[in-house]
Amino acid sequence: MSPRGWAVLTLAVLVTAGLLTVALLIPWNRPPAPRADQLAALRDLPVDQVERAREFRAALRPGGWAALAVGLLVALLLGLTPLGARLVELAGRPFGGHWTAEALAGGLAVVLVADLVTLPFAAWRQAVLTRYGMSTNGWGGWTVDLLKSYALSAVVGAVALLGFYTVLRLAPRWWWAFGAAGAAGLVLLLSFALPVLVEPVFNRFAPMEPGPLRTEVMDLAARDGVPVRDVLVADASRRTRSVNAYVSGFGPTRRIVVYDTLLREATPQEVTSVVAHELSHAKHRDVLVGTATGALGAAAAVIVLYLLGSAGGLLRLAGVDSIRDPRAFPLLLALVTLVGVVSTPVQAMLSRRVEARADAHAMALTGDPATFEAMQRRLAGANLADPDPPRWEYLYSASHPSTVERMAAARAHARETGR
Ligand SMILES: [Zn+2]
Repeated sequence: MSPRGWAVLTLAVLVTAGLLTVALLIPWNRPPAPRADQLAALRDLPVDQVERAREFRAALRPGGWAALAVGLLVALLLGLTPLGARLVELAGRPFGGHWTAEALAGGLAVVLVADLVTLPFAAWRQAVLTRYGMSTNGWGGWTVDLLKSYALSAVVGAVALLGFYTVLRLAPRWWWAFGAAGAAGLVLLLSFALPVLVEPVFNRFAPMEPGPLRTEVMDLAARDGVPVRDVLVADASRRTRSVNAYVSGFGPTRRIVVYDTLLREATPQEVTSVVAHELSHAKHRDVLVGTATGALGAAAAVIVLYLLGSAGGLLRLAGVDSIRDPRAFPLLLALVTLVGVVSTPVQAMLSRRVEARADAHAMALTGDPATFEAMQRRLAGANLADPDPPRWEYLYSASHPSTVERMAAARAHARETGR
């Protein structure tokens, strides 16, 4: 069989594995609470709070969608016209135009241009956050964060670009196989190392202080059968007034993190309810499942790029002869960006399913749906979340069920269990 034949076969195996993972490991059997219950929950929220949240979200919306549209347009412009190839040449020339120079300097220049065109919208967002009192870091802190994230993506990008184009040269017929394995490996490595290498660049983390609350959440974890060494507190207040908690990493790097803002704003019972939700993510290995799905997707994407790379029409548009040429990188980036935009609603839908399971787990574990509902109200208030966002926006990008869905789910749980 030819390398191309093997590529098609491998792609079929990867897609099947991805679909099986999603079919078997995503909780599908939990219908959202009835709409009437959601509307009843909405009526119970203070009118001025809902109005202010909707005003805030409406102020953020134009910039958010414009960033998405401009980012996609510029990526397509660079990838589907000879402009991108030209940019790679120009960036590589000062370094002698060697392929490593074009791969590294050219690749990073393309990524930088794609980032810079959305910078005005990121600044717009920060301006809105400041106007509504949600941001606490000022423009200085915002700029430092931005530079840190550019530096991080430059490092990861340089490793990926150099690795990718080295493999392309060493294995011109089988690069897709090494590339797919490398992409999957990189996704796994990044998710694994995120809590120890990336998160500390932006925040400081300290174990939750000993006291009744810590004892309570550690007991809860033990009762849930989830081994937890510590719950970490992040100094999120240096940047934001919003409250949150999350699980990141897997295996030895797995950690449950709560924002210091959460500890400040919420009652101890509410914090316990949030930790119970995070315990579900740990117990069901949601980070690992998400990472594995991402790794399968990344490997499949490399093979799709290889198969598309022989499509003469696309190469002609990009003004290159071969997909193996570093000048074809903008074409690759355009295709990846397009896939990202198209797959966002699918990722959001899967995420909402997993989050709904974590909510149900939290209520079952604490046996306290009333506190869970109070926490949802507090989250919506502190984060200026639209409790019942526009349907199209929810379907495109909401990673969590809406506040009214979560409140209605709490009431359904209370009815079912008689609490
Ligand atoms: Zn969650």
